Amino acid sequence: MKNINLMMLREPLIAMLFFLFIVKICGYLFYMDGLIAITYRCNARCKMCNIWKYPTKPSEEISPDDLRKLPSGLRFVNITGGEPFIREDIEDFINILRTKAGRIVISTNGFFTQRILDVAKRNPDVGIRVSLEGFSKTNDKLRGIEGGFERGLKTLVELNALGHKDIGFGITLSDENPDDLIPLFHLSESMKMEFATAAVHNSFYFHKDDNVMDRQEKIVAALEKLVNELLKSNRPKNWFRAYFNHGLINYVLGNPRLLPCKAGSILFFIDPYGDVHPCNGMDESFGNIKEKNWDEIWNSRHSDEIRELVRNCPKNCWMIGSVAPMIKKNIIPVSLWVLSKKILSISGKKYRFSK
Ligand code: SF4
Repeated sequence: MKNINLMMLREPLIAMLFFLFIVKICGYLFYMDGLIAITYRCNARCKMCNIWKYPTKPSEEISPDDLRKLPSGLRFVNITGGEPFIREDIEDFINILRTKAGRIVISTNGFFTQRILDVAKRNPDVGIRVSLEGFSKTNDKLRGIEGGFERGLKTLVELNALGHKDIGFGITLSDENPDDLIPLFHLSESMKMEFATAAVHNSFYFHKDDNVMDRQEKIVAALEKLVNELLKSNRPKNWFRAYFNHGLINYVLGNPRLLPCKAGSILFFIDPYGDVHPCNGMDESFGNIKEKNWDEIWNSRHSDEIRELVRNCPKNCWMIGSVAPMIKKNIIPVSLWVLSKKILSISGKKYRFSK
C-alpha cells in the first residue's frame, strides 16, 4: 500500500463535508420523493420489462390536474412511464409538479428526440435521463427498438449542444450487458453527464416475475470496477454513487438490503390509473388520486397497514428511487463507508465487495 499523505486527503475531506452539509440541509427542508408513471404506453419492446404489453388507454390515464392534490414541499419527482414523452401534455405535468417539488427529472428511452428537445428548451430546470442498456447491438436487442441506441445518443448529444444542464443516462444490468457497463460509464464521463445504474427487478409495475441473473459473477465484477472508478473520481457525488453500486452488488448477490426501506413514508409511486402505491415494487394501493384527496390517501388506517407490509417486505430491491432518500436519512453511516473506501482508493487499494 502506498503511504497516505494527509495533504492528499484534505481536499476530498473538505469537499465531502461541504457535500454532506448541503445534503443534510436539503434533507431537513424537503421530506418526500415521488415517482409518477404518467402512461403505460411505450414504443419500446424491452426484454426485462413488459409494460409495453399492457398499455393504458389515454382515457384511463391521470391528468395533470389530478396532481394538484399532491402536497407541496416534495424534494424530488421522477416522471416516468411507459414512455412519458408519448403524452403530449407532458409539459402540463411539469408545470404543476414544479409547484410541488424542488426537482423534476424525466426518464425516457430517448427515441422522440425532437419532442424531448422542445420540452427541454422550454424547461431548462428539468432533468432528462435516457435509458441505454449498452452500446448499439446490446441496447437495441434488449430494448427491442431498432436504432434505439443511435436515437438515444443523438438525443443526449443534442441536449448537450442545447446547453441543457441536467442530463444523464442509465443502464439496467442483466446477464446480457455487464461488458458494456464500464465503456458506457466512460462515455458518460467524456460527455460530462450523470450515469445511473440499476439491475433487473421483478414487480407488478414491470409485469415481470421471471427476470433472473444467472451470470452474477460477471455482473458483480463489472460493478466492482465501476465502484473503483467512482471512488477514484474527484466528485463527492460519485463517491456516494460508489456506495449505491456497492448496495447494488449486494442486491445482485441476493442479500438483504443494506439500508431499511421506508417506501410509503418518504417515497410514493403513482401509476397512470392514479393509484398511489408505496413504491413501484408493491402492488398495494393507498387509494386513488382521482377519487380522494391526499390526506385521505396518505393518512389512513389502510395506509398504515400497507406501511407495515413495507417494514416486512421480503423483496430487498435496490432501486435508486427507494434508496436515494434512505442514503440521505442514513447519511452518517453511509459517509463513514464512503470515507473509508475513499482513503483505501487514495492509498492505491482496490475495492472488493464484502458486507
Ligand atoms: S423493498 Fe421497499 S421498495 Fe422494494 S418492493 Fe419492498 S417496499 Fe417496495
